[in-house]
Amino acid sequence: MAQVVCPHCLAANRIPPERDAGQARCGRCRAALFAGEPTEVDAAGLQVHRRANQGVAVLLDVWAPWCGPCRAMAPHFTAAARRLEPQARLLKLNADADPQASAELGVSGIPALILFQDGREIARQAGAQTADQIIAWTRQALSQAASA
Ligand code: ZN
Repeated sequence: MAQVVCPHCLAANRIPPERDAGQARCGRCRAALFAGEPTEVDAAGLQVHRRANQGVAVLLDVWAPWCGPCRAMAPHFTAAARRLEPQARLLKLNADADPQASAELGVSGIPALILFQDGREIARQAGAQTADQIIAWTRQALSQAASA
């Protein structure tokens, strides 16, 4: 049984293994649980996604509006969301809007990608990436975590 946090209302949705999570809708607000795009979160939303997603990895992009490499990576991150969902939930955290959350994550340079599984950080890297690089890095980290 997977548990998927709704990107719109933050309700936790239990998804039986025989159902396709990529096609599922939220039981509370009826929004598609996976729409093929990253979800903007604040610090509180990030905590809910980290804690309550089960069987779904959480890939966080920490960025800021003034950061050129962050803006360059944005369309690549969106393209990666289309291909990594529903295996992973892709989130974006604006470090300017939430400096405290960014500091607590220990982020020193942006863009930073942090991959969580079942609430635990399993990988991170800094610097702009292409969609293919983001996808390959995420899949490799998840397969290493699965075999550890
Ligand atoms: Zn919802």
